[in-house]
Amino acid sequence: MEELKNNQDRDRAGWLQRYKKTIILSTVLVLAAVIAVVMVFIGATLRSRLIQDSRMKTEELAGVIELSLRHLMTARNPGKIQQSLEVISAGGSSIVNAFILDNQGRIAYSSRTSDIGARIDRFCEPSCTGCHAGAATLSQETATLLTTDGGSYLRCVKVIRNNGACFACHPPSSRTVGKLIIDRSMLPTSQLITAVMLILAISGVLSLAVLVPFIVKFLSRGVDKYISEILFKSSELSMLYAIVKRLSKTIELEELKQVVIDIVRDLYRADEVHILLPKGGKEYGGVFWSNKDNKIDRRVVPDQDPYRDLILDWLDGGLLQERLVDGGRTVVIPLEKGGTRLGMIIATRSDRLFNDHDLELVRAMGSHISVALENASLYRIAITDELTGLYSKRHFRTMIEKKFELYEKYGEKLTLLILDIDDFKKVNDTYGHPAGDSILREVASRVMNTTREGDLDFRYGGEEFIVLLPATADAGGVYVAERICEQINSAGFDIGETRLRITVSIGVACVPEHAVTIRDLVSEADKALYEAKKTGKNRVVLSRNRPV
Ligand code: GH3
Ligand code: MG
Ligand code: MG
Repeated sequence: MEELKNNQDRDRAGWLQRYKKTIILSTVLVLAAVIAVVMVFIGATLRSRLIQDSRMKTEELAGVIELSLRHLMTARNPGKIQQSLEVISAGGSSIVNAFILDNQGRIAYSSRTSDIGARIDRFCEPSCTGCHAGAATLSQETATLLTTDGGSYLRCVKVIRNNGACFACHPPSSRTVGKLIIDRSMLPTSQLITAVMLILAISGVLSLAVLVPFIVKFLSRGVDKYISEILFKSSELSMLYAIVKRLSKTIELEELKQVVIDIVRDLYRADEVHILLPKGGKEYGGVFWSNKDNKIDRRVVPDQDPYRDLILDWLDGGLLQERLVDGGRTVVIPLEKGGTRLGMIIATRSDRLFNDHDLELVRAMGSHISVALENASLYRIAITDELTGLYSKRHFRTMIEKKFELYEKYGEKLTLLILDIDDFKKVNDTYGHPAGDSILREVASRVMNTTREGDLDFRYGGEEFIVLLPATADAGGVYVAERICEQINSAGFDIGETRLRITVSIGVACVPEHAVTIRDLVSEADKALYEAKKTGKNRVVLSRNRPV
């Protein structure tokens, strides 16, 4: 069970760790994607702004050139026009080509002198078809981005309009005298764009490199906190589940006391655990466990019970909820169901104080223990002899089988005492049945008080009792039997004004010394009792049988 729980906890921790890795990896990937998108956006915006800027500059430049050329044209100085075009596109200039087309599409002037005279068909020339498609001609004065094998450039076309100053050479009927075409290289702008993109990419990678360790650390811490909380809660749940399972399997009150002590001890690492059970009125009994001797004893109520006031308060119906006492070193847990007080647990620990979380657990566990205690109490009524309060004969059969199993499985010894009141018939005959009954009750109570927690006392017949002593050999059995004899013999029994002396005879038999079957064990103890009666009563006889 414990191993299974540990395995489950390990599995849970494993998949939670894997889940953590996935969360961190996804966050880093999302962050990288966000940075990449932002960088791409910034890059694209910058690029379009730079191109736009270049375009405007090219247009302005073309305007200025056109103006200065117009002056040269009106001065009729073709040599200067050609020279100007050559100068503006000379080495180092961003203008790679500048030329003037006449109205027939012929290159009249060009910075590339070899081109002069060439005719350009605007519908076929690749650099023109962007604006001149088919028969339609777009009047385009804005700079257009063109890309050729030699690189990208901006082409700006300025229409040289025909006006009065031109009429000397050009007929007034013509609207234009030609076109000035300027090609400006995009290489510097492209280089600038590439540099900006590179800087953006580097800053993206750098910001990722700086952010990732922080994010991993931050996420890891946060997720670890949740993981440990989840693990803690789930192990608490499995623990509560294990507790409920264990409690629900336990119907015997004696066994339940042991289970409850185990649970409280393990759950809270308690040093002392008391389980108190109400006995009616202001009476209470119970068991006590301490880690000093690690054994469970009947709780003998001391004269100076440190918890007496609390217990009396509880019996009076005052203590309804768990309470911390001794400055938080002790927790008192009242157990009740439907308003019926079922019991009380007192747990003490010295190494640390109980905290709020412990109290939460107490609440969760207390209700389950109450249910188990109620079931065990009902069961206890069903298996208890009404007159004496000892276990009934029917329950003896169940219990002896259980205890015998321990011998068969682990070789654990088991001693059985059969006890019969001496000359009881006379008591009945002399003092009447009710007096006999009260003596039976008192004998039962003395037997119970002489035996230990863990020993089992039964009313086996009319005035016959059986005591089962688990894990006890014959010597121990004889010792207990003699103590019972003495407890009954030593003090008288009061019947009204009369004090009676009562004695008992006890037969003792032990597994495996005298018997190795249940039937033989009972019969050997019975034979020993018979011998005790025969040889004078008020005595203990140990079986002499040796099983073959
Ligand atoms: P011995 O010493 O040999 O045991 O003599 P005894 O008189 O005790 O004989 P026995 O053990 O046979 O006694 C049985 C008597 O116990 C018979 C009956 O009067 C009495 N008895 C049995 N059950 C009850 C009971 O529930 N109440 C009372 N008052 N007496 C009972
Ligand atoms: Mg008898
Ligand atoms: Mg008898």
